[in-house]
Amino acid sequence: MSDRIFLASPHMSEEGYEREFIQEAFDTNWIAPLGANVDGFENEICQKTGAKAAVALSSGTSAIHLALKLAGLKKGERVFCQSLTFSATANPIVYEAGIPVFIDSEPDTWNMSPAALESAFRKYPDTRIVMLVHLYGVAAKIDEIKEICSRHQAVLIEDAAESLGTVYNGQWTGTFGDYGIYSFNGNKIITTSGGGMLVSNREDAEDKMQKAFFWATQSREKERYYQHKEIGYNYRMSNITAGIGRGQLKVLDKRIEKKRKIYQYYKKALSSVSDITMMPFDREECRNNCWLSCLTLSVDSRVSPLDIQLALEKENIESRPVWKPMHLQPVFSDCDYIDNGGVAEHLFKQGMCLPSDTKMTDQDLERVCGIVRSCWK
Ligand SMILES: *Cc1c(COP(=O)(O)O)cnc(C)c1O
Repeated sequence: MSDRIFLASPHMSEEGYEREFIQEAFDTNWIAPLGANVDGFENEICQKTGAKAAVALSSGTSAIHLALKLAGLKKGERVFCQSLTFSATANPIVYEAGIPVFIDSEPDTWNMSPAALESAFRKYPDTRIVMLVHLYGVAAKIDEIKEICSRHQAVLIEDAAESLGTVYNGQWTGTFGDYGIYSFNGNKIITTSGGGMLVSNREDAEDKMQKAFFWATQSREKERYYQHKEIGYNYRMSNITAGIGRGQLKVLDKRIEKKRKIYQYYKKALSSVSDITMMPFDREECRNNCWLSCLTLSVDSRVSPLDIQLALEKENIESRPVWKPMHLQPVFSDCDYIDNGGVAEHLFKQGMCLPSDTKMTDQDLERVCGIVRSCWK
């Protein structure tokens, strides 16, 4: 059987940058949390993204959790959250005993519909927190969402876990809202094996990130003995992990370039199948990192997304469905949902993610496309 083709797997730099940073950590015995790599990784993320301050954390999920705490989420308080996403976007709302209200997507970007967000504010006018996602690396309609949030004096959190490197009007996604989060989980565009980053571009970003650091390190007060006035978490990134991140950051631009090539390849090679529409690509105002290349099939297509996934699986090729919207998840069945004509549900039913691994060769891509096209034969 041919070598397995992955959806998206870790891709360390050819130059070995990650090993150098890890070696340094070993040489200085700086294995434990904190240390030069953690500080360096935070600074380099700020330089690259333009964020004013950052805190390296153990996961993207922990970054979302702390962003919600910084937003002051209270027990029983509602949060407007994009429905079409991975569950990690919504779960931390419940960690804080908040109540997610799920918002439908719009077809141009697959992300939160500004019109549905407006409706949500009409229904629940005193809501203060909005959780936006840039799904699969496609930038949301950030200008419109931001305008609505400021009109309602709501805190905007950007889940940019999948969109590191996606730029909107020259600015990095994750730096538009009050707080942004990135993930370095194994399948993301760059990885530390596991990890996340909380960033902020607010005037008081430095203070806010210090508070997040405090919570992430068990809320230890500045006393000689262990004094605690608040509940804490063990959410810090280790100095080893951060070393991998520093190395990976050096090749982020290369990874984006390759991801974009993968998307373009699929777009061209699958254009002969009229049932296939590739996911939204660059608009005038933005440049996508193309983390995963996704497609949708027309509703009257005789081939289903599952048919394609099974055909690829038979050839040892990994693919996956589009995220199942949160408002359709049993665990969130009690939550309200603001509909925009069933866009998220349509994308879930008709969509799928093609393998988008940066180690794929042109032959690999042609193999995938050949199998996809053969589903119509
Ligand atoms: C991966 C991901 C997360 C969670 O990040 P982890 O680092 O795995 O905790 C959150 N939101 C989205 C949209 C993701 O894809």
